[in-house]
This record gives sequence, structure tokens and C-alpha cells, in this order.
Amino acid sequence: MQYRSTRGIAPELGFSDTLLSGLAPDGGLYVPVSWPELPVDDRTLDYAATAAAVMAPYVGGDIADDDLGRMCREAYATFRHPATAPLVQIDDHRWVLELFHGPTLAFKDIALQLVGRLFDHVLAERGERITIVGATSGDTGSAAIDGVRHCENVDIVILYPRGRTSDVQRRQMTTVDAPNVHTVAIDGTFDDCQDLVKAMFADSFLRSELRLSAVNSINWARVMAQVVYYVTASRALQGPVSFSVPTGNFGNVLAGWIARRTGAPIRDFIVSSNANDILTRFIEHGDMSINGVVPTLSPSMDIQVSSNFERLLFEMDGRDGAMTGERLTNFRTSGRLEVDATAFDQWIRGSFRAARVDDDATLAEIARVHAATGMLIDPHTATATAAAALAQPGVDVISLATAHPAKFPDAVERATGIRPELPPELADLHERPERTVDLSADLAAVRSFVRSVSRVAR
Ligand SMILES: *Cc1c(COP(=O)(O)O)cnc(C)c1O
Repeated sequence: MQYRSTRGIAPELGFSDTLLSGLAPDGGLYVPVSWPELPVDDRTLDYAATAAAVMAPYVGGDIADDDLGRMCREAYATFRHPATAPLVQIDDHRWVLELFHGPTLAFKDIALQLVGRLFDHVLAERGERITIVGATSGDTGSAAIDGVRHCENVDIVILYPRGRTSDVQRRQMTTVDAPNVHTVAIDGTFDDCQDLVKAMFADSFLRSELRLSAVNSINWARVMAQVVYYVTASRALQGPVSFSVPTGNFGNVLAGWIARRTGAPIRDFIVSSNANDILTRFIEHGDMSINGVVPTLSPSMDIQVSSNFERLLFEMDGRDGAMTGERLTNFRTSGRLEVDATAFDQWIRGSFRAARVDDDATLAEIARVHAATGMLIDPHTATATAAAALAQPGVDVISLATAHPAKFPDAVERATGIRPELPPELADLHERPERTVDLSADLAAVRSFVRSVSRVAR
């Protein structure tokens, strides 16, 4: 399998190079040159074996089938539930797909537990090392750290804004005791952290000296790993089903779209957003325009622009990368992306519906689901179960539960009066020793810290 860039200029790459490069050099995102068909539904396979079968055509022989199978088994053995991603019924035609049983309690574990292992495998074969540098406001950093904590060939440095992440989120990063994991508390905001990371990537000398790399949500392998649970869940209910998806960068919805495109029995998607509703406005009116970001109870959906939407736009543009590139350049300058009515009708209408669920409605939904089922759901999940009301009568709707309620205990307690407990494996999180470095938001200081811990240059 070869991959091409959505901007149409960068040369095609195989799977391993696509994995290691993340963003294409022309600024685009990698997509497979063609969409393979899903493997046949084999009920004898468990989640990990299904994952290996679904992903094999995308890996395209770059990694031997046995190795891919072993990495999937190891990745999903870290999950606390034997089914990895269990499907729970909450009403006549309503289901919740629990994606939060991984080590850091958020659905990002499903991709990052595997992607860490893929990185290490490819790097070991090539005799190379990399240094991953990232900024986090919470979920991504802990999932990335846990995904690479056992990697021999990867060092990771995660910057977070001191005092601005939740206790659980910070401790999930700072209590990991592994020689290749480093966390830095920056005296500043999340934007300061992100600016520092961008500045390091913009320094081409540093970038090649330390072989800097990212594991952000535009990495193709993360999307690929997420296709799997759409396949297992829609086949389990013998579709066609609708999925209701809490959305930030659009990576999760895009994975669902790919599952449908390649043959999974999926009827359509409901995209849920919080007050940061750029995608909802687009799906309702065909006009994508940038507003500021406001903080909400579902912080992992507080985004201004959904970066993974570019992959769907590329399909809408008939896979003409020059056209996609031009439209995105205009979007950057004008703050508005226009889609013509024919393309909108063909690609968006009928496939996507969208809802905006603000904080009050989110709290009311957490309370409603608890009263009706006894289940505690987190605020991100609540946007999805609330948005499921948009489905057609009689259609099975699967809402994606993207975080464990104990990851956002304050909101859950506010809505229900009950403080959700951490799973037993994490019960001692608040007693574990923390390990972190405090730095000011100063590029020279952060750069020299990253240089001092990276094993690439040694
Ligand atoms: C990252 C995240 C999301 C948003 O996922 P996207 O792939 O960016 O759309 C939703 N919920 C939770 C809990 C997350 O961590």
C-alpha cells in the first residue's frame, strides 16, 4: 500500500515511512492511494485478531503479519475489559461503545497503545531512534506517554501548562516511571506549550539532530487503528447502524467514514460538538468559519479547526490535491471554507447530521442517563448520547464513550451527586510519586532540556 498527500505535491510513501513522518512535507495529510475492502466477518476472532485483519491491507506487507498480530495482542492486552471495546445497551435502540478501558481511561489509548509499538518495531528494524515532543492540555499527553513507555527506540518529552491540567491528567503523565519518559511543567498556558513545540519543530537543525517526531491526531496510523471498533460494533449489531461521535479534530468520525467506505454496515454519522461548534455549523449550513475557542466541560472537544477534516475534503475534491491545497490556503487567510452545493449534497447530506450540546445540556444528559440506566458517563460521551436523539426512529444508534467518568469526576459529580471512582488498577494514582521538571516558557531552556534527555544524539 502506498500513501499520498492530500496536498498532492509530496511523493508517495509506503506505510512505515508514512507512520514515521506524520505530516507530509507539503503540509498535507497522508491517505492510502486506494481504499481496500474489509476482511470477511469472522466471528471466531477476538478484538486484537480482528484489528490485525482489518489493518493488514493498510500496512501492506511493510510489517510481517505475525509481527502485526503480536503487536495488536500486546496493545489490547493493556485494556482492563476482555472485549477491549464492549458494546452496552442503554435503551431500545441505543447503545454505548465503551472505548475507555485502556491504561489512561480515554479512547486515544486504542490508537496510541498500538502506534507506540509500531514506531518501536519500525525503528528497531532500521536501527534508528526518535525523540517525540508534544504539548498537551490533558488527554493526548498521557495516552502518548503510556503508548511509548516500553519503547527502546523512542524518547518522549511532553510539555503541559503548570496548574492547568486536572490532577488525574497530570498524575497520569508524571507518575510514569520509565527512563524514556519526561514531562515538563511549563510556567504558562497550553498555547505557550504549543508555541514552544512549534518553535522546536521549526528549527531544522534541532529537528534533524534529535530526529524530532510527533504523535498528533493527524498521524495516519492513529486513524487506521480507530477504523477497527466501527467494524466490530456495526457487525455485532448486524447494521446498518448510526454512530454518534463526540468530535474535536474529526479523527474519530473520519475513521468511521473509512469503515463505511470499505464495507462496514453503517448508515450514517451524528457529529456532536460542545459550544465550539465549527463542524456542526458546517454540517447544518455548508459553511465552515472560524470562531474563537471557549473552555467547556468537555475540554478534548475544545477546538477551533478540525485538522482531520482535510482527509474528507480531499475525497470531496475528487482526490485533487492541488484543489484541496488551494482551498485550505484560502481558508487560512479568509477564515471561511466554502463547499459547492453539489459536493455538499453528495458527500455531507445523508451521511452526516450534527448537534451542538452546551454545558447545561451536557450536565442534564449525564443526570438523565444516570437516572434511566444507573450508568455514569463522562461529559464528552454525554454530548454523543444527547445528539443520538437526532437519529431516525427505529434505527440502532451507537454512541461512542470516549472517556471514563472518573477522568472528569467534577462534572459527573455536579450532575449526579456521585463522584465516580478510578478503576482498581489506578486506585493508588494519588499516592504514586510524581516526577516532573519545572521550566519557564523559554525556548532556550526547553531546548536544552530536550537535548539533555534525548538519546538520539548519543
Ligand atoms: C480526543 C478526544 C475527543 C475528540 O476526538 P477527535 O478524534 O479529535 O475528534 C473526544 N473525547 C475525548 C475524551 C477525547 O480525548
